Amino acid sequence: MSSASGHALELKGVTKRYGSFTAVEGVDIAVGRGEFLTLLGPSGSGKTTLLMTIAGFVQPTEGQVLLDGADITALPPEKRNFGMVFQGYALFPHLTVAENVAFPLRVRHMPKAEQAAKVKAALDLVQLSRFADRKPSQLSGGQQQRVALARALVFDPALLLLDEPLSALDKKLRAELQEELKALHRRVGRTFVNVTHDQEEALSLSDRIAILNHGRLVQQGSPAQLYEAPRSRFVADFLGKSNFLQGKVGEAGPEGFSIQAGSTALAVAAAARPPAGSTVLLSLRPEKVALLMPGQVADNVVNGTVESWSYLGSGFALTVATRDLGALRVNLPSWNAPFAPAEGLPVRLGWSAAAAVPVEEDMPAAA
Ligand code: ADP
Ligand code: MG
Repeated sequence: MSSASGHALELKGVTKRYGSFTAVEGVDIAVGRGEFLTLLGPSGSGKTTLLMTIAGFVQPTEGQVLLDGADITALPPEKRNFGMVFQGYALFPHLTVAENVAFPLRVRHMPKAEQAAKVKAALDLVQLSRFADRKPSQLSGGQQQRVALARALVFDPALLLLDEPLSALDKKLRAELQEELKALHRRVGRTFVNVTHDQEEALSLSDRIAILNHGRLVQQGSPAQLYEAPRSRFVADFLGKSNFLQGKVGEAGPEGFSIQAGSTALAVAAAARPPAGSTVLLSLRPEKVALLMPGQVADNVVNGTVESWSYLGSGFALTVATRDLGALRVNLPSWNAPFAPAEGLPVRLGWSAAAAVPVEEDMPAAA
């Protein structure tokens, strides 16, 4: 099961319309062999429609689905040999764990002895061998989802498709299963396409993330690329938390440009040079803002007053009121906070010129 290196998948201009409503529009995505790709987006953004198009249950109105370069757009789902796990994917309640996992092999008329060996390997993979004779009702939700994973992998699928497989589980269990899913992906070396609306899950699991909004692919890249260099307000806001700063472009310098927000001038390090006088929007992550000690300097220094704060265990989250930039969210690791936050406390905020990245204002949604 761990020998093959997975298959490559490509979506070319995939569009799906339901009457006059466009659920997915012109999506191009290439998934490399053995890659873990996550389709991330809010509810209704077209994630399931796109996954069902890959699976073959939805026929695209336009565009193509390619597997290892071959056009499979018209191939029925049962001929695609893809494994699938869904959020509420019920196991057969009257079958044991082993019988559930054997089901896809029975359907494929695999000889019994071979079935037993495959089932054992798949159950070992998800560490559930000792529960082989139990019924699904005798397992926890997390264990049931692991059985569903074993059942989806037992027949050596070309791709594993996952639609919010962890979203029915509580937070702690979800985190555990995330780790397991990641380890599983490493062990089997297959191509995984996962759907989620949970940005933390997407960041921690994926080799690459494709972000959807209103049926359109708005940006794709590695988790770090998307987090560090979001192209739009939507991406910066959806993947993590962000402050947004707006100002008018002033002078360009060798390393970037300055912007003016009210009477506050900010230094921005960026390759792009927007025209002087134009308005730019910057995304500034809360953890990139520091509370400066007296005398401490930074590329950008802004005075403010602590409006509110909360202790989160690993750190503090502060809201700091500023004159020209509105309320800024600041996250400090608790082990490294220069002083204890307090409401009404005057503070100096500092961040580097590279910390705030120019982003596009979002396009209005297509009708
Ligand atoms: P997501 O999985 O991101 O929540 P979906 O792909 O399920 O989103 O749905 C995207 C949009 O397409 C939604 O507005 C949904 O109502 C619409 N949609 C999905 N399936 C159908 C259908 N069979 N007929 C009409 N509209 C649909
Ligand atoms: Mg969905």
